Amino acid sequence: MEAASAGGAPAAPQKPWALVTGGSRGIGAAISKALAQAGHPILLNYRSNDAAAEAVKAEIEAAGGKVRLLRFDVVDREAAFAAIDGLVAEGLPIGVLVNNAGISADNAFPMMTPEQWDPIMRVNLDGFYNVTQKLVMPMIRLRKGRIINISSVSGVIGNRGQVNYSAAKAGLIGATKALAIECAKRGVTVNAVAPGLIETDMVVDAPLDIIKKHIPMRRFGQPEEVAALVAFLASDAAGYITGQVISISGGL
Ligand code: NDP
Repeated sequence: MEAASAGGAPAAPQKPWALVTGGSRGIGAAISKALAQAGHPILLNYRSNDAAAEAVKAEIEAAGGKVRLLRFDVVDREAAFAAIDGLVAEGLPIGVLVNNAGISADNAFPMMTPEQWDPIMRVNLDGFYNVTQKLVMPMIRLRKGRIINISSVSGVIGNRGQVNYSAAKAGLIGATKALAIECAKRGVTVNAVAPGLIETDMVVDAPLDIIKKHIPMRRFGQPEEVAALVAFLASDAAGYITGQVISISGGL
């Protein structure tokens, strides 16, 4: 039976939980806030920065939202599987997954070391598998789910000095398209968002003035702009969009 509100009208059904990886800073923090604003309780994953995660949690709670912090490294398969298994065993309905955790380590390819290649694959690509694989069946059982993978324009068009990052982000696009086909009949959509240059800690060391000249809009994007797109893809209104890569790049 539906609960009735004080006015007698049926209360809005509780939205499912949204899990955001790398939700403590930058784009992931903005996504966590936007999804909380849309009414989702948030499972906020991060790797190590407790203070940043606590700050995002406090901000969401002050606005009336609900947050649980989930500290684990998405590269650590055992930890990721254990965390997801625990949530599923608890019976938590997780209807939105945003695979946002990501890192970069730029270098010209002839100089690129194994230490610059391996972690980029592990976080950006293996992280997708480690978090997503055990969540797909529960979403299918809910008959409704939204998986949104944060790729990059670098994975769409390739970028100088980012052979590692472009490869990992292009891999994520392939995974998005294939999983979208597998899930399409089951009410679960899978899409990728490909940001251009967004003002976060990740880009502080980049030659921003030079890069800006190559962006048709002549400005960097803000995390909140990416978050608004993700919140739309997570919404009921986006139910017929799947298998797509949507760029948000100022025209790059
Ligand atoms: P930031 O460096 O600002 O934040 C990264 C976040 O990811 C932090 O919350 C960090 O947590 C978390 N994180 C990093 N590694 C791991 C891990 N192994 N396990 C769990 N959490 C992890 O990055 P951005 O906000 O700039 O980037 C977010 C996503 O957007 C990434 O996938 C990135 O590749 C993508 N992107 C970014 C662009 C940009 O211009 N900024 C452009 C295109 C794509 P902690 O602090 O605890 O380590």
